[in-house]
Amino acid sequence: MLDGQDQIARIKRAAEGRWREIAEAAGIPEVHLEKEGRPCPLCGGRDRFSFFRKRTDGRWFCRGCGYGDGIALIQRFRRESFGATLRWLAAYLGLPEVAEHSVRTASRQISRQDKRDREQRKIRELWESSMPVWESDSPNPARLYLSRRSLADVDRPQALRWTPKCPYWVAGEDGELKKIGEWPAMLALVVNDAGEAVAVHRIYLTAEGNKAPVPTPKKRYGSGLGEGFVRLYPPSSILCLAEGVETALAVHCLTGLPVWSALSLSGFHHFEAVPAGVEVIKIYGDNDASFAGAAGAYELAARLRRSHPELRVEVHIPEGRGEDWNDVLSRRIKTSAW
Ligand SMILES: [Zn+2]
Repeated sequence: MLDGQDQIARIKRAAEGRWREIAEAAGIPEVHLEKEGRPCPLCGGRDRFSFFRKRTDGRWFCRGCGYGDGIALIQRFRRESFGATLRWLAAYLGLPEVAEHSVRTASRQISRQDKRDREQRKIRELWESSMPVWESDSPNPARLYLSRRSLADVDRPQALRWTPKCPYWVAGEDGELKKIGEWPAMLALVVNDAGEAVAVHRIYLTAEGNKAPVPTPKKRYGSGLGEGFVRLYPPSSILCLAEGVETALAVHCLTGLPVWSALSLSGFHHFEAVPAGVEVIKIYGDNDASFAGAAGAYELAARLRRSHPELRVEVHIPEGRGEDWNDVLSRRIKTSAW
């Protein structure tokens, strides 16, 4: 019987140059694998996934999920353990069966824990090396950015910070990451159900508080620790949920109620644990032309109604086509100024 490392090496050898076919056999539709900037088969993001066909190791990259090799892609798509993924691959490739115990060696478990610890440490370091947005009276790019969105007077959440220099990485043709520059960034801490920091959401900015001239000004740092929300204001008996950070802040300005940001529509899928004491959940969706925002908001509402029949659940969508709650706030402020 081969040990775990030998099995992995053997699978990689047999799969070399065949990852596109393997991915399709695992159930990933062809549309995700054709060229760069495709919908992500893992997180559902619309144009954030690239499968690097020129590489032989199945390398992929998603602006939301991170990157990895072919084995990682199959594992994450099939939502199975590493061992189960290797067994599936061995069977598909016609290799001898992978023994259960061989891939569950202590060394692998330790290295997985190490990886988790390392990622948590990096998130903590990034967060701790950044600065509070409202520390002093002098303007900074994050405050200028918020002012441009009619959010200058928002109650000051601790879950937002900023940093003057944040490196920006892109994946090149060969799938390797390259740094293309450094910009100021507003940071938002993403926290999971257990209250652990799992990622930092970054908005790359110019010194004047506009979005930075980079391919994707909003990016997630930290991919392996799971999903969570930006807890802008602590819930009372009411908790509001909104998509983006700016929209969530606008909902707070408009209603005075506690709000969390899911960061994106797919973030709504990961709302599971209702915080203690919450009796009312208000979902503030975007009114985008495709109706995707409203559909996602009602989908979450329907799911909560089934799983938590005791909760009162409301959905609020802006009336104007193409508007989010930040647009509603901006319009209201402009109208009252006149
Ligand atoms: Zn993704």
